[in-house]
Amino acid sequence: MKAVVLERYGSPEVLEYKDVADPVPAEGEVLVRVAAAGVNRVDVWIRTGKYQVKLPHVLGVDVAGEVVSSTVPHLRKGDRVVLFPDTPCGRCRYCLTGRFQLCRNASRLGSTRWGGYAEQIVAPASTAIPLPSGVSLEEAAALPVNYSTAWRALVTDAAVGPGMWVLVVGGSSGVGVAATQIARLSGASVISVVGDNWKEEKAYKAGADFVVNRKKKDVVEEVLKTTGGEGVDVVLEMAGTPFWEKALQCLAPGGTLVVVGATAGDQVSFNVRPFFRKYQRIIGSGVGTQGEFLRIIDLFSHGKLRPVIDKVFSLKDASEAHRRLEAGEHFGKILLKP
Ligand SMILES: [Zn+2]
Repeated sequence: MKAVVLERYGSPEVLEYKDVADPVPAEGEVLVRVAAAGVNRVDVWIRTGKYQVKLPHVLGVDVAGEVVSSTVPHLRKGDRVVLFPDTPCGRCRYCLTGRFQLCRNASRLGSTRWGGYAEQIVAPASTAIPLPSGVSLEEAAALPVNYSTAWRALVTDAAVGPGMWVLVVGGSSGVGVAATQIARLSGASVISVVGDNWKEEKAYKAGADFVVNRKKKDVVEEVLKTTGGEGVDVVLEMAGTPFWEKALQCLAPGGTLVVVGATAGDQVSFNVRPFFRKYQRIIGSGVGTQGEFLRIIDLFSHGKLRPVIDKVFSLKDASEAHRRLEAGEHFGKILLKP
């Protein structure tokens, strides 16, 4: 089969479209023909060597496709599935206390296992979630990382609910769009931050109540104005260094800052005094559990969550897709299609 293979770390050109041996499912695994694979920021961190993996490697955490062959009775050839990327060990202290997202021995597609930048993929059958016939496999491939991360951060960690204000930093990213939709579905109001004029209207279309273009306006000022001087109950932060202090200034007393990324730098500093005097919280978060993902799939299957697809690239153009993501030229999810 064809796959995009990473043999050394570096710029997007290191992603090589080439022939590799067809994968063979072991006991308890399924072989899936990839219909679409999502491109994520973590793929860039792996490609550049910031996160080290065993080389050669195939990237791709998000995958949806059709079962080609199965070693388990509940999945059959032709079943349409989306794969949850993580398989926790089930034995460690975190798994045994139900905190699967903390498992240190978990395997992950596109990280500890070969991922979806390929024509076919082998995955643990327990992670293959059947999809109803009406839904698009492309849209399904846009769900795992972005929606699981947004759900974990907002619903589970920050307990977002009706009447709350949520500030989504990076409102045009895949996670940002997912967060906007999930916050709205939870009854909260959303302020979305974007960095280009053309992204403003798209952010409104994605469900934001207010959109702030950070290149044109001061985000803190706009947030305080919009929330009657109070600030927001939750900030979903993923920029890192450049926005950190502003994120805290946007936060209401008792508010929660949830960090799910560090796209533009990972070192921050801040004054702890206003922070503790306002009883605020900072939480680190990431991809949630398969249990949380099942709820996302349920909402998606009923048309209540619809990912925004930015652009679909042919698998052989994976390096172009990475360039687009790194340049911030996208709004929503970038996909690869074999
Ligand atoms: Zn475990």
